[in-house]
Amino acid sequence: MNERYSRQTLFSPIGEAGQKKINAKHVLLLGAGALGTGNAEALVRAGVGQLTVIDRDYVEWSNLQRQQLYSEQDAEDRIPKAVAAKQRLSEVNSDVQVDAYVMDATPSDMERLLDGVDLMIDATDNFDARMMMNDLSQKYQIPWIYGACVSSYGISYTILPGETPCLNCLLDQVPRGGRTCDTAGIISPAVQMVVAHQTVEAMKILVEDWEAVSRKLVSFDLWQNQYTSIDVSRMKNESCPSCGDDPTYPFLKYSQQMKTAVLCGRDSVQIRPQAYREWNLEEVAGALAKHGGQVEQNPFLISFTTENKRMVLFKDGRALIHGTQDETEAKTLYHRYFG
Ligand SMILES: [Zn+2]
Repeated sequence: MNERYSRQTLFSPIGEAGQKKINAKHVLLLGAGALGTGNAEALVRAGVGQLTVIDRDYVEWSNLQRQQLYSEQDAEDRIPKAVAAKQRLSEVNSDVQVDAYVMDATPSDMERLLDGVDLMIDATDNFDARMMMNDLSQKYQIPWIYGACVSSYGISYTILPGETPCLNCLLDQVPRGGRTCDTAGIISPAVQMVVAHQTVEAMKILVEDWEAVSRKLVSFDLWQNQYTSIDVSRMKNESCPSCGDDPTYPFLKYSQQMKTAVLCGRDSVQIRPQAYREWNLEEVAGALAKHGGQVEQNPFLISFTTENKRMVLFKDGRALIHGTQDETEAKTLYHRYFG
């Protein structure tokens, strides 16, 4: 056994046998923002065998305060988070296979990537993605760990399909929006606390210490010195559309329409085109240059500034329109410049 994990294997609930299990497991992490980078670094240092990281965004200066894998250079170059995370993680532990995807994952993308996955971790910033993970977890019987934070507040809960209530059963117990990072801000200790809860639950699941897994919904407000832990075991709903007797998995139905979404804390709208196709960024950049405005490019995306708006186009045709929360305006700009 590698010296690298000696302190972890000395911890008796893990031991040599647990370490072997960790080294053989595959975790999928949806999101590589604050929670995602924290979880990713902890799991990679712990020696997880394989880590799939999915993120739709790129690194910005406002991320550096709490997104621990990223550097000023990543923000300067607008490197997609999944790409920057993979680079840094491979420096931390080159034994771990890290697969990075720059995408806004749909249910079918996720289904394609779930083969052999032992555990999913929620590091997203939106409700739709969490509910999608929740349905996937039930459909494929893969545990997942919910986590969210805003300002000095955080919440986490482990879902074991076939045993615990799912997130859909607990909808009245979890925040669905309202106070977002947009208006309330966030401090890094709240992130780290949720990451600690998620990572330790992940370790328990990876070493298959099922008894140790928490069945409670934990939440806290670090600034207010409040900690709560709720036993939710009796909230499992037999008629739940995600985990009940006759599940329909309502959050796996993906519409083929062009989809827009206002992004948390970004004063930005994301536009996802109808169908996937690989764009030729060189050609697009050439065409944009004729409009005037400022065009900048890296191998993953184009940033185009005009009309007091900055628009970022990814290779898969997805765009972020910065400086607006108006979805109609964002769509108009998308069609005007990207077709
Ligand atoms: Zn349920």
